[in-house]
Amino acid sequence: MPKMCAAADRTADAGATIAAMTAEAHPPNAESDLSRLLHADRRAGVEHGALHKPLHISATFGYATAAELVAVFQGANPGFVYARQGNPTGGALEGKLALLEGSRAAAGFSTGMAAIAGILLALLKAGDHLVVSRHLFGNTRSLLQTVQGLGIDVDFVDAAEAGSVEAALRQSTRLVFVETIANPGTQVPDLAGIGRLCAERGLLYVVDNTMTTPALLRARDVGAGLIVHSLTKGLSGHGDAMGGAVIDTGLFDWTRWPHIAEPFRIGDPAGWGLLQIKKRGLRDFGATLRPEDAHRIATGLETLELRIGTTNANARVLAQWLEQQAGVARVYYPGLASHPQHARAAGLFGGRFGSLLSFELKHGIDPLAVLDRLRLIILSSHLSDNRTLAIPVAQTIFWELGAERRAEMGIADGLVRLSVGIEPVADLQADLGNALAPFNG
Ligand SMILES: *Cc1c(COP(=O)(O)O)cnc(C)c1O
Repeated sequence: MPKMCAAADRTADAGATIAAMTAEAHPPNAESDLSRLLHADRRAGVEHGALHKPLHISATFGYATAAELVAVFQGANPGFVYARQGNPTGGALEGKLALLEGSRAAAGFSTGMAAIAGILLALLKAGDHLVVSRHLFGNTRSLLQTVQGLGIDVDFVDAAEAGSVEAALRQSTRLVFVETIANPGTQVPDLAGIGRLCAERGLLYVVDNTMTTPALLRARDVGAGLIVHSLTKGLSGHGDAMGGAVIDTGLFDWTRWPHIAEPFRIGDPAGWGLLQIKKRGLRDFGATLRPEDAHRIATGLETLELRIGTTNANARVLAQWLEQQAGVARVYYPGLASHPQHARAAGLFGGRFGSLLSFELKHGIDPLAVLDRLRLIILSSHLSDNRTLAIPVAQTIFWELGAERRAEMGIADGLVRLSVGIEPVADLQADLGNALAPFNG
């Protein structure tokens, strides 16, 4: 029986969608991935000549004969069974995500956190050891505390040097987890060096590529085995949907993973890891991506390149300008020459540096008083939206950590995080200039 359940997931495998996308008269190399993405739904044969994959809201899928139902259930035929494990609208999005990351297959989740929990809880067992970056998204960090409570050991290291990761490795180490650009400090780990280390040691390398998106980095290029995305952020951009994704690059050899359960050791071993993540993360935990959200995220993806180009250019202008303001003590942005990993970021991210920057106000300036003077920029905790957002870090997203931990992490009370949007940069500069004006003298 479990064998039958396991097999059903291969039906929604993104590889099948990619195959459909590329099964065209034109050789795939003649077109860029962006063109392939924009035309993927149409070419997959949407009815009435529609240009978008329809919103399939059905909770379940019916078959004309019992034999057909069984064939889909066992994975012999492609198809969908019960929508907790995936739906066609989500499947189309998964194919596009795998295409953008140059990877084997993707699985959609209800949120970015569900995707990360899906990886950790589906793959690990008590007694395993993980090495993770010290600079992680706050909720990922708190999820890791839950994971520690289940008997899994976690070491938090400064991933700026691959050597610190190496020094923390043990016999029981299974996985290394990093983010491409940390929030709010914008640290950039030695992504490629850690990738080489993981390849040498046969470790699963998980890269959260949310802050860079494949527009800046294909995480497979730095050796990631699994890529994580919060689809809520830059990939959708419009702030009108939530989602997450786990993408299997195809680089990790799942025959070396000790905890693939028997029912998931079916078919090509390259698919085992994602099958187990989907079976547990979607079927068992129920962290399903809604078709409505999948549709909105897919629409957002179409303009990824345009949006990222604008937000990243705006962020760079604002970072340079903020560095010159009298009321500002420090600016954290990988695009600044003053950033400790500027050269690394320039090499990895194709000359772009993301839409996230943080600035520290001079001692004695109340960040809340500055932020209250903003008229255009929104006071909000979200990231990589089309609109520019600002938040005082110590008083909100890092409040729960307490003053001592914040001091250790270098998070000053006057730290403000900006997520830069696509507004004309002159408007943003004027708004920030007006907010800072009484404090600049
Ligand atoms: C937002 C975020 C997440 C979590 O994503 P949600 O969709 O909000 O659950 C994970 N990692 C990073 C780097 C993020 O910025």
